[in-house]
Amino acid sequence: MTRPSTAWMAGAACLGLDGRDGRADFLEARVADQLGMCAWCPVAVQCLDYARATGATDVVMGGVVLRSRPLTTEGT
Ligand code: SF4
Repeated sequence: MTRPSTAWMAGAACLGLDGRDGRADFLEARVADQLGMCAWCPVAVQCLDYARATGATDVVMGGVVLRSRPLTTEGT
């Protein structure tokens, strides 16, 4: 199986935030701030495609909050 290209990461608005690649390590940032950055990111489409291809979860990528479980309004 071929891994998806990561060349798009060079144009990421979040490039360098985590020191690893173009995908921000947004764990320390507020979701609203993350989504705000994604909103003007020139590679958001490629980022979301990559997230879907790699099964990314529990992260903001491509302007979408990707969760491993559905949100619920019920108590814990
Ligand atoms: S869409 Fe968001 S997470 Fe993806 S590269 Fe751009 S800023 Fe980073």
